[in-house]
Amino acid sequence: MSEQETKTSHTDPHALRKLILELSGVDIGKCIQCGKCTAGCVVANETDWTPNQVMQLIRLNDMETLLGSSMFWYCTSCQTCTVRCPVGIDIAKVMNTMRLLVLDKQVDPAETDVATVNKVFMRSLKAHGRVFELGLVMNKNFRTGHPFQDASMGPAMFSKGKIGLKPHNIKGRQRIKSIIRNAGRFLKRD
Ligand code: SF4
Ligand code: SF4
Repeated sequence: MSEQETKTSHTDPHALRKLILELSGVDIGKCIQCGKCTAGCVVANETDWTPNQVMQLIRLNDMETLLGSSMFWYCTSCQTCTVRCPVGIDIAKVMNTMRLLVLDKQVDPAETDVATVNKVFMRSLKAHGRVFELGLVMNKNFRTGHPFQDASMGPAMFSKGKIGLKPHNIKGRQRIKSIIRNAGRFLKRD
């Protein structure tokens, strides 16, 4: 967190809510804590904080607790919470924004393996315009220190044509690359 931002969050009790609004366009101020987002969330039973608790922590301006949360890393972006919210808050977008904030602040993610998958996925997308599954799995296994994880599934997946040995570059991959680069810029404000 930059010095400026730390000062801001100490002096303005709404700093985090405003930051989320600025980055994502989503205002969580309308949340009525009905809990519908959590009731439909497919991963809420596995996480330290539930979606409605995340909304409340944002409102409480508790950046420190949020940056260490596992919620954003387990979130599958399934959008169930978003379509259920009675006041129209795009909760899935808030989760994604919080994930980007953790990466932007360079704090250790609560779920390092998930963060690693996230990183290698984006690299593969940038390089080929689509994901090269075999490269992604090998890269992830190497980086997380489990080189043979899920290796037993390989032969069946090859034989069914689910994964290939070589990457396939799409025609517009430079455009995909610039979309990702431009999307990344919005957090580099300091
Ligand atoms: S469903 Fe919407 S209003 Fe209800 S707790 Fe979740 S974010 Fe808040
Ligand atoms: S988008 Fe994320 S937070 Fe929302 S229901 Fe799906 S997994 Fe849960």
